[in-house]
Amino acid sequence: MKFINLTRGTEIGANSYYVEADGKRLVLDCGMHPKFEGDEALPNLKAIADRRLDAILISHSHQDHIGTLPVLMRRQPGARVFMTEGTAEIGNTMLHNSVNVMTRQREQLGTMLYPLFTHRETDRAIDLWQSCPLRQAYTLSGERVNWRSTDALTFEFFDAGHVLGSAGILLRAGGRTIFYTGDVNFDDQTVARAAIFPEERIDVLIIECTRGDTPVPAGWTRTDEEQRLARAIDSAFARGGCVLIPVFALGKTQEVLAMLHKFRRAKLLGAFPVYIGGLSSKLCEIYDRRAHMSRRQLPRLQLLGEPKPFILDGQTIHAAPARAGRIYVLSSGMMTPKTLSNIFARRIVGNPRHSIFFVGYADPESAAGILKSALPEEQITIDPDEPAQTLRCHVEQFQFSAHASRESIVQYVERLRPKKILLIHGDPLAVEWMCARLSLDLSNSEIIVPAPGVELEL
Ligand SMILES: [Zn+2]
Ligand SMILES: [Zn+2]
Repeated sequence: MKFINLTRGTEIGANSYYVEADGKRLVLDCGMHPKFEGDEALPNLKAIADRRLDAILISHSHQDHIGTLPVLMRRQPGARVFMTEGTAEIGNTMLHNSVNVMTRQREQLGTMLYPLFTHRETDRAIDLWQSCPLRQAYTLSGERVNWRSTDALTFEFFDAGHVLGSAGILLRAGGRTIFYTGDVNFDDQTVARAAIFPEERIDVLIIECTRGDTPVPAGWTRTDEEQRLARAIDSAFARGGCVLIPVFALGKTQEVLAMLHKFRRAKLLGAFPVYIGGLSSKLCEIYDRRAHMSRRQLPRLQLLGEPKPFILDGQTIHAAPARAGRIYVLSSGMMTPKTLSNIFARRIVGNPRHSIFFVGYADPESAAGILKSALPEEQITIDPDEPAQTLRCHVEQFQFSAHASRESIVQYVERLRPKKILLIHGDPLAVEWMCARLSLDLSNSEIIVPAPGVELEL
């Protein structure tokens, strides 16, 4: 079996992994780098340019996993593409939105490479996707099979508990098993329910390490953290301010809306208007439509019905007043310049009445990362095209990660005791911690941090 890490660094970048097993060639995920532009935003597809792929399997619809799939499909017209139904539906919305973003960037950045693909190409690509239910083995030609009665390489999706549609991917080939976790959460969130992952013998485990450098705070429980957020919102309103919660459009927006709904239902907070962005609202629609079809909590909750959020877009955001008692649940989660959360943050950052609450991961170099680590009265620049500002608003961090805690990952790996463990999807410190921690108890496992672009024989 061969493996190449097509992500360009030891990082959470443009995730993509090449696997060759049983004479078949496939790629797991094909993301877009959140920080780089043009060709640099693509996975390192040059490393497999001379190989003809049989299949592409997608774990979920976050940009860092699906964002450049149409480019790979253009270069590999013979490859079949598989994902869950939820991922396909969300992926459709995400990729078309990405074309719009890249079209705007074409002018802003002056890059003629953009858009990397068009709406038309995206539509044609989507027509070729095959969606597969969870817990059902398929061959790479798209045939449902009983894996016990075939020698062919098969794949099977397992619920990853991360966002709607997210799946871990189990490959069975020539008596060996390879399991790729994608992004996983082993604990319940407010909407998403904990992953159900294979407990059978796994020979090669490819596992994400997002939270490898952050321990779960002592005594942390999700219920307590929800209460703390409710209290913080209450005091923000009492100060006469509004609250900005920067979120990813997919996953975190829906989790936060469900939490706000719970706060109101439990009478922790009174009535208040909530604002979200256009992409987020399209994704909420999919969550609502699939509420009874997906394995989730609060299946009767319609996010666009009960919390009834108001929708803002690139134009109306400029006119939206930062009024007391309102909550703005806006993307992007990293507060990338020119996105709704960045534009709105610049408006409130200098005012001590207002609050910004972070609820998940942010790259330390992103605008959200800068804001998180800044001290009160510090001069900060969250959009390089705009003047620096003094940080006077209230900033607080909450822990509602959609990713598995490092402790729960260690538990899972120690139960499986795979022969080989490949550590991916983490910043260098996160991956280092995981490597050191797993080496303590798993002396019979080979723990590998796959260097980008290097072919490994497993
Ligand atoms: Zn993800
Ligand atoms: Zn990811």
